[in-house]
Amino acid sequence: MDKIISLCKRRGFIFPGSEIYGGMANSWDYGPLGVELKNNIKKEWWRRFVQGRPDVVGIDTALIMNPKVWEASGHVSNFSDPLVECKKCHQRFRADHVDGKKCPECEGALTDPRQFNMMFKTFIGPAEDQANTAYFRPETAQGMFVNFKNVLDTSRKRLPFGIAQIGKAFRNEITPGNYIFRTREFEQMEIEYFIPQPEKDEDWEKYFNMWLDEMKQWLRDLGVSDKKLHYKDIPDGERAHYSKRTVDVEYDFPFGQRELYGLAYRADFDLKNHSEYSNADLQYTDPETGKKYLPHVIEPTWGVDRSLLVAILEAYHEDNAPTSDKGETETRVVLKFPKWLAPVKVAILPLSKKDELSGEAKKLFEDLSKNFVCEYDETQSIGKRYRRQDEIGTPYCVTVDFDSLEDKKVTVRDRDTMEQERISIDELKEYLREKINS
Ligand code: ATP
Repeated sequence: MDKIISLCKRRGFIFPGSEIYGGMANSWDYGPLGVELKNNIKKEWWRRFVQGRPDVVGIDTALIMNPKVWEASGHVSNFSDPLVECKKCHQRFRADHVDGKKCPECEGALTDPRQFNMMFKTFIGPAEDQANTAYFRPETAQGMFVNFKNVLDTSRKRLPFGIAQIGKAFRNEITPGNYIFRTREFEQMEIEYFIPQPEKDEDWEKYFNMWLDEMKQWLRDLGVSDKKLHYKDIPDGERAHYSKRTVDVEYDFPFGQRELYGLAYRADFDLKNHSEYSNADLQYTDPETGKKYLPHVIEPTWGVDRSLLVAILEAYHEDNAPTSDKGETETRVVLKFPKWLAPVKVAILPLSKKDELSGEAKKLFEDLSKNFVCEYDETQSIGKRYRRQDEIGTPYCVTVDFDSLEDKKVTVRDRDTMEQERISIDELKEYLREKINS
């Protein structure tokens, strides 16, 4: 983790939050490359699961909702973690994260656990009282449930269909930590997939398995090795009471095997509660039989930040690269992102800062940046510039040299093989397009 954290800071993926003020409780800011990487994850997810499917539509709902939403969803009464405090050093921990009754820091005795609600509170308007208390959403899912009827009435969808959303969620975690793995402010990508009321288990299982397969394929495309993934069926007694099946997708992080994503069959729990609390009729009318009922729900959930973390962990490689001294090699750090994920696709590197070369290279940047995210860099030795592009995972470097002015060709270097090829400037865009989309 230390290598990853240092690389992410050094190259501008992730910075400690409010750093000049000494940081802020495990909060993190995404830098110029981090935001590109995060956007690529969100864009691909949206393209694949919303725009690419006739049975899913997207929405974008408010962060602060009517507080009754959180009463109906059970978050006001149940969204809590057991908190224990060390009587000696007064550090606080989640009871289910410590072994035994001793403080993991100083071995002092721990208090009995008390339930701590994890929703962030705020006030609407100037009066700071109970009547004006509201909550920052701890998940995006409720935005889909409260808009179920709006979407049904306007989108012409018939069951089964899903509503998807990407957005921030807030949880007052007792012990945030492990870098961006657990923070108090994070992003989720969620789908509530509404299905007909099942008559037998196979009726919901087929949709559950469909989403499980989709999650597996997504992880393969993100570049995550199957060997590090665990699909944990949550046993009876540990699942939410309304759920007939929940699978936690876990990953072997450097700090242990932890949850990456989740998939749950939630029956009609959510729509039923919202019907009761709001008095709205959230039933679906079967267009063929005229039968009215509350649809059931399959919920796949992806964490954006945890996706980004595993993508970097999986992409990180160290290998040997030749130096400018003949026969010598040095350790090279390279992020071998799948090409669609790389924050920068093409780096344009004039061999010298001389006007003849930089003019030609800037023209190339102008042209190529219409199609790909490009970076233009003319400072430092070419070796150092290659190292930087390897470290940020740029699949192709294009070098403009003095020969280019004569033969109208440039050198294209491949990140993974480090092989170099001379390509005619006329054919460069097509060449890169084919390579990047392959
Ligand atoms: P955990 O057991 O790790 O606290 P959870 O079971 O509470 O997670 P869910 O409520 O299922 O998590 O949230 C869905 C997804 O949102 C998780 O799979 C994870 O990817 C992401 N997520 C949840 N909490 C956090 C957090 N504090 N920081 C970053 N991502 C989070």
